[in-house]
Amino acid sequence: MSDIIFEAPPRSGDNIEDLADAVRQAFGLLDVPYFPVVPFVELGIQHLNPGIMFDVVEGDLLGARMGAVNPLTGQFMVREDIYDAAVQGQPRHRFTVAHEAGHAMMHVGTLNRMPASVGKVPAFRDPEWQANRFAAALLMPRHLVRQCTSVAEIMQRFGVSRECAEFRIKTLKLSVLM
Ligand SMILES: [Zn+2]
Repeated sequence: MSDIIFEAPPRSGDNIEDLADAVRQAFGLLDVPYFPVVPFVELGIQHLNPGIMFDVVEGDLLGARMGAVNPLTGQFMVREDIYDAAVQGQPRHRFTVAHEAGHAMMHVGTLNRMPASVGKVPAFRDPEWQANRFAAALLMPRHLVRQCTSVAEIMQRFGVSRECAEFRIKTLKLSVLM
């Protein structure tokens, strides 16, 4: 257990959904279901946030972590095997890359470090909660996911795992056939 925890500026779910839509809009991808997350982090994100430097790194550099964004320098690292899996379209690791992109968009130069003894950070200030919400919103925009009628359709159209699709349905309180 780490002695330091991070706190982000507060964001509502809707605020994060709007940010993800704005990212898609910036690249003319608002209505494209399958988001090209690898080209986005390699070539696109720097146009929106010029401080970001994307890099694919060898496994031992990150230890058990699949990716990381340095909140001070903007260095955005994805482990080589995770990157390769995302390039192949592996749903789980498309989400991993999108999650790290959320940190890169929202958390470089914005985080407060606090001693863990102060307790748990509320979800709306928790960088991990924010990055997960961003990843889900980027891969499965609200207006497109609402058109779907099954979990299988969401998985197929957006290139996400069953777990992600089901969580998205719960988050948006959608009533689709499971
Ligand atoms: Zn994270």
